[in-house]
Amino acid sequence: MKKLVKILAIVMVVALSATLLYACGGKEDDNVLVMGTNAAFPPYEYYEGDKIVGIDAEVGALIAEKLGMEFEIQDMDFNGIISAVQNGVVDIGMAGMTVREDRLEHVNFSTTYAKGVQVVIVKESSEIATLDDLAGKLIGVQEATTGDAYASEDYGEESVKRYTNGAAAVQALQSGIVDAVIIDNEPAKAFVAANEGLTILETAYADEDYAIAVAKENTELLEKINQALAELTADGSIDAIVNKYIPA
Ligand code: GLN
Repeated sequence: MKKLVKILAIVMVVALSATLLYACGGKEDDNVLVMGTNAAFPPYEYYEGDKIVGIDAEVGALIAEKLGMEFEIQDMDFNGIISAVQNGVVDIGMAGMTVREDRLEHVNFSTTYAKGVQVVIVKESSEIATLDDLAGKLIGVQEATTGDAYASEDYGEESVKRYTNGAAAVQALQSGIVDAVIIDNEPAKAFVAANEGLTILETAYADEDYAIAVAKENTELLEKINQALAELTADGSIDAIVNKYIPA
């Protein structure tokens, strides 16, 4: 009997120390999935009051839930997201971010969870009707986006004016500082709906795949995210979120 009490006591001490070690040992953040984004990109990420909502915000939250993690969003310039992922400031970059070869040199991408198309916004009164008409015009873009890359490559650096977010580029179009804005189609629709006198050219610019950026060394997280994305696609969760923000 004495022996049993002794064994029980030892077992309890070991269990208690293990619990304490677990609770104090790791960083508290270890169980938080932190998503870096630029929350000026409706309907993927934008502010509703002081809360960041949108397709990426909701899909990110569901992924965290699948992984048994808490979820947190950090808002930053689009231009800083890839380095924030590389440096471990955030765990994932999710910002309507297009998979591009040059980005793949710095981070890995998950499987694709959405499609984007680069489009051109002009004023309704504009003489610009096709992509060719953009030659010699001043094009507003969001810095370091694919729109920035295409505009710079196709029309030359001198034709491009960079803004830190899409709303600022659209504002510059409204006030006549730039002649056009190249941006992703869904944000374009949202900006055109929210601003008088703007329209989207029918000629689309480029088709793209959106994916989640993860640090190169974080292959375990990448695998878990891909698994979660597969499940969320199969059970219709992602479609439901997309349909909620982009009514057919
Ligand atoms: N899809 C574009 C890119 O990846 C724009 C993304 C954004 O502005 N949030 O560059």
